[in-house]
Amino acid sequence: MNTSYILNHLGEDNEQYFGAIAPPIIQSSNFAFPTVAAFREAIAQEYDSHVYTRGNNPTVKILRQKLAALEGTEDALVLSSGSAAVAATLISQVQAGDHIVCVDAPYSWTKILLQNFLSRFGVTYTYVDGTSIAAIEAAIQDNTKVLYLESPNSLTFECQDLAKCAALARQYGLTSIIDNSYASPIFQQPAQLGIDLVVHSGTKYLNGHSDVVVGVVCGDKAKLEQIFADTYMTLGPIISPNDAAMVLRGLRTLELRMQRTHQSGLYIAQQLEQHPKVKQVIHPFLPSFPQYDLVQQQMKGAGGLFSAHFKANSIEEMEAFSNKLVELNRMQLAVSWGGHESLIIPSATFHNMPDREDSPIPWTLVRFYIGLEDPQWLWEGIEEALLLLN
Ligand SMILES: *Cc1c(COP(=O)(O)O)cnc(C)c1O
Repeated sequence: MNTSYILNHLGEDNEQYFGAIAPPIIQSSNFAFPTVAAFREAIAQEYDSHVYTRGNNPTVKILRQKLAALEGTEDALVLSSGSAAVAATLISQVQAGDHIVCVDAPYSWTKILLQNFLSRFGVTYTYVDGTSIAAIEAAIQDNTKVLYLESPNSLTFECQDLAKCAALARQYGLTSIIDNSYASPIFQQPAQLGIDLVVHSGTKYLNGHSDVVVGVVCGDKAKLEQIFADTYMTLGPIISPNDAAMVLRGLRTLELRMQRTHQSGLYIAQQLEQHPKVKQVIHPFLPSFPQYDLVQQQMKGAGGLFSAHFKANSIEEMEAFSNKLVELNRMQLAVSWGGHESLIIPSATFHNMPDREDSPIPWTLVRFYIGLEDPQWLWEGIEEALLLLN
């Protein structure tokens, strides 16, 4: 299906709402029926009906159709955060006694879900080096039910061969799940390579304006019906109709924003790689990236997120460099990414913290997110800040 059609028209039918171009925000918790028979039928098939907004809502429905089409899956569910999407999806696939194979260093709250939360309910896990199919296969046990992937991850960008992972999961009867937030469906469609369930932090690129927290899971209708009847309806992690309408507006420009952040991010990464004060740039679309060939096979672009190690003599120098970028109004110090604004997270932040161990990531690393600003103007600021490294 044509991507621009999905983003601008799919799922919308303005004859149903006075010809309005912008879809209405159906801010209603419940829906009425003309007869007992109609009421009975809707309740019997709540997945496909508008009964109650904890299950379905017409504004959210438009969003679901677009997100499913973007990933090329039968359906999608929209949740109140990316972490809710990860948790509702993973929990729905396991019972006490089951085991999960998960790639090393997943998103921080996914790690906490496995280590602190699911462990309380008798679910075990093994972390594996996801760059090696042999390592993944070796970690599979008799009680393994899920292969959980994140490709690329969002700090050091290790990737998994998705077609091979999907085949392996199928061979061993596992449900394969991927966090596809980094690439967005514009640049990577894991379900097309055989992955069962695709989750997103829609807070990042899908909404794209740093004003809504939202999560998504895409997959077969049968799998999503199971998640709906299990974690989705019982835990209730829904998005409000109002936030769904904001995400619909964000999606209008998804393709344009992805192209812009890919081009700008790659430009800044290339400039940094040639700079004498830079030790290493980690960006999946630089030929120096260890898995560059795999990335070319399974991704169409990278977006604006990458990391760099700098040649700095001290943590204070790294702090001065980072503060200078803020002072020059080029970068803001903030978590998250995927919005309009350029951001940095210096690893130095996680060193010298009171009552906390230093991060294992060296303080020489800075994660960059390049937003929608003029990349040339951003680079001029970065060059100026680099003068503070000796
Ligand atoms: C942000 C993020 C999440 C969590 O999403 P929220 O919307 O913040 O709950 C999950 N995975 C990745 C890769 C993320 O970057």
